[in-house]
Amino acid sequence: MKTIQLRPGKERSLLRRHPWGFEGSIAKGKADFGETVRVVGSDGGFLCWAAYSPSSSIKVRAWSFDEAERIDAEFFERRILAALAVRERLGIESNGVRLIHGEADGLPGLIVDRYADTLVAQFLAAGTEQWKGVIADALLAATGLAKLYERSDSGVRQLEGLPPVTGWLRGEGPTTVELLESSWRLTLDVAEGHKTGYYLDQRDNRRDFAVWVRRLKAQRVLNCYSYTGGFSVAALAGGATEVTSVDSSAPALARATAHVVLNGFDPAHHTALDADVNATLRQFLKEGRQFDAIVLDPPKFAPSAAHAERASRAYKDINRLGLKLLAPGGLLATYSCSGGVGPELFHKIVASAGTDSGVDGAIVARVGAAPDHPQTLCFPEGEYLKGLLVLKR
Ligand code: SAH
Repeated sequence: MKTIQLRPGKERSLLRRHPWGFEGSIAKGKADFGETVRVVGSDGGFLCWAAYSPSSSIKVRAWSFDEAERIDAEFFERRILAALAVRERLGIESNGVRLIHGEADGLPGLIVDRYADTLVAQFLAAGTEQWKGVIADALLAATGLAKLYERSDSGVRQLEGLPPVTGWLRGEGPTTVELLESSWRLTLDVAEGHKTGYYLDQRDNRRDFAVWVRRLKAQRVLNCYSYTGGFSVAALAGGATEVTSVDSSAPALARATAHVVLNGFDPAHHTALDADVNATLRQFLKEGRQFDAIVLDPPKFAPSAAHAERASRAYKDINRLGLKLLAPGGLLATYSCSGGVGPELFHKIVASAGTDSGVDGAIVARVGAAPDHPQTLCFPEGEYLKGLLVLKR
């Protein structure tokens, strides 16, 4: 077992059980790709067992802070069973569930989503890549399922020196899956969809949006960055009769259109626009259009805090346009999934969008990711999705 020793004063973060050790914290020690190492402080005292990543600036990712724990197949079985036990207790109203949420489940570099009878996994770091076979078998054993699709095509793999990999890892079959989320039928393709195929983190916000649409008797709803139309189906379920989905992905919009019919709604109540959101918002303003509720759920504008400033301008711009397009009393459901833009900054951005557009609003809810995307107390980087529901005065 190789040992990685940290520099004096650099032990603090691992002592607080933050699971990462950066290149600059390491005094000495090296290991192979994904190898399990013993990480010690400058005094030689045990800090954690970790996976070593030779090419990443995050050199070690902690598996366990318990010196007595062995990192073997049983370790992965225990961690997976523990993550599943948490999901069991959440009472999730869907057969689409995030089963493993990386660091928050003690498995840095591993994302696993369950879509009905299909598992989809992303192996994003050297450690999980190295234990892939063991993890795959443990996932099937713990869930009793037979199909696991790999979607390790996220850009972050490059930082680990890993190529993109996709395909069936265990079992095989059609890659299209139908989910039942909040009683809505939604389809996705685990091979072709974004990320693992769908955005499970917005599940509860889609459900709540349907409630708000009904409460406000909103008829005209604009769903920006609609992807496959989850919020659009929610709007129709809430009683909206003029729903517009805007996205720049044609396959996603085709699915959104299909979802309207699949759920028994009148296709005449829905329009799919293959367009850039920003340009569409400007166009709608010119045309004098108004909406009773608007969803803004853009992709990650700020991958890290370093991009926060540029991202802030982009967020402000769409929020300013969105607030202007709302009818008085209308609802803006606005989200940011940028880890680099914290909840306070996001609030400031939306507030200044309000000032610039001359619109005052009441924040009626502050929301985050669904509970199967938990955060741990010791890993602030895990917080990413935040949203504000703003009622225009
Ligand atoms: N709200 C969705 C998830 C949105 S993900 C849901 O509940 O499932 C972000 C979406 O924004 C993606 O579908 C992507 O295709 C789309 N997108 C990215 N840039 C865009 C742009 N400039 N204009 C329109 N859509 C864009």
